[in-house]
Amino acid sequence: MDTNQMTKQVYEKLENIVIIGNGGRENSLAWAIQKNKQIKNIYLIPGNGGSGEIKKCQNLNLDYENKNLLIKTLNSLKIDLIIIGPEIPLAQGLGDFLRSKNFNVFGPNSDGAKLESSKSWAKSFMKDANIPTAKFWKVSSVEESERVISTASFPLVVKADGLASGKGVFIPETLEDTLKITKEIINGKFGESGKIVLLEEKIEGPEISIFALCDGRKYILLPSAQDHKRIEENDKGLNTGGMGAYSPTPILSNSELSLICKEIIDPTINELIKRNIEYKGVLYFGLMITKSGPKVIEYNCRFGDPECQTIMPLMDTNFVNILHKCAKGKLDGDEEILSASKVSGCVIAASKGYPEVYDVGLPITFNYENCEDIQIFHSGTSINEKGKITTNGGRVLSVVCQGKDFDSAFNMAYKVLKGINFDGIYYRRDIGHQVRENFSYEDI
Ligand code: AMP
Repeated sequence: MDTNQMTKQVYEKLENIVIIGNGGRENSLAWAIQKNKQIKNIYLIPGNGGSGEIKKCQNLNLDYENKNLLIKTLNSLKIDLIIIGPEIPLAQGLGDFLRSKNFNVFGPNSDGAKLESSKSWAKSFMKDANIPTAKFWKVSSVEESERVISTASFPLVVKADGLASGKGVFIPETLEDTLKITKEIINGKFGESGKIVLLEEKIEGPEISIFALCDGRKYILLPSAQDHKRIEENDKGLNTGGMGAYSPTPILSNSELSLICKEIIDPTINELIKRNIEYKGVLYFGLMITKSGPKVIEYNCRFGDPECQTIMPLMDTNFVNILHKCAKGKLDGDEEILSASKVSGCVIAASKGYPEVYDVGLPITFNYENCEDIQIFHSGTSINEKGKITTNGGRVLSVVCQGKDFDSAFNMAYKVLKGINFDGIYYRRDIGHQVRENFSYEDI
């Protein structure tokens, strides 16, 4: 590409952005995007209690399922790019619909979103493309599951096939518990999402998350990240949407990354192309680095939360141009996205009781000294009738800090957390323990 072409590409009109979603992920995307000077307005549909604090941002209290109103609004606001954050609208075909109305959309159509919305479909996809993953069985009756569970020669992981807000995966310790949870899922614990259950060989090794920004044919990688799924310290207790994360993950060498591209990412993109699925959006690879090499645990069709909040502060100001290029199918494949060489850590402040039952509507107070290496992205918050910020979800705030190393980033995050309060605030003290040299519970 010559310089003129490149200049034209970078300055293609890009002023008004819509982001669909209401979590920390969407707020962190908005925050990274507003840094680009070209951008004039960012509208979050519906956003949350913290979105309005981000420069150039405002919430649109609009139901995106009201298609006529949505299109009318997008046209009147002259929207250049729509980013769809969560998996549910993607799986339900919001991307297909908006593309049919000629909008530039970052986020796959429902065919590509199937990589996340049906775990058994994703497993067959991997099998066809020879992509390394754990052995699996697809079952849809109690009898079938009893047969598989009683004859399996290794521990099994039990998964509801469909979307379950990150809560549909179980790692039982005994055969009896494996059967019990499988039956519960088949009998309706997750409604339609559990009509099919996936039983998987339990594999072992460190986990990493890789995000590829795709334009349908080409992709570029974001820095790797690792999240912490369990609610309790020492990775105990129930699975959650994610209690914290860090980026980049030092466990990945360049040669390991090349192997992952060759054995996993390239074959995934090629299989999508082979199936005529034009995937324009972010594709997440949840990987486990086992003794026999990297294996795919799962795909997601959107940015992970809280990995997104962790990675966004590392992005250069042209990040939004790259999302735009993906949406238009015009990626060069060698774009630069990283800004200064810092590391980033995120700790989630959650409501007492999460991921099960918790209260909402509790006032939040903030008392900390701000600086450019601190971001507090609201995840589950709203503004009450008195104009006060209150809790409105299980995961309430994402406290994200950057530093020259993980010790300084996490020390800062935990210091900030000491100045944040709401009734029953809970956070894990050991986020990023793998990468903090001077980690100790006592210091927090
Ligand atoms: P998923 O929602 O599929 O990413 O699963 C949630 C978590 O369960 C993963 O991050 C892993 O820690 C664990 N997990 C899922 N599948 C397996 C597997 N086959 N073997 C071991 N652990 C797994």
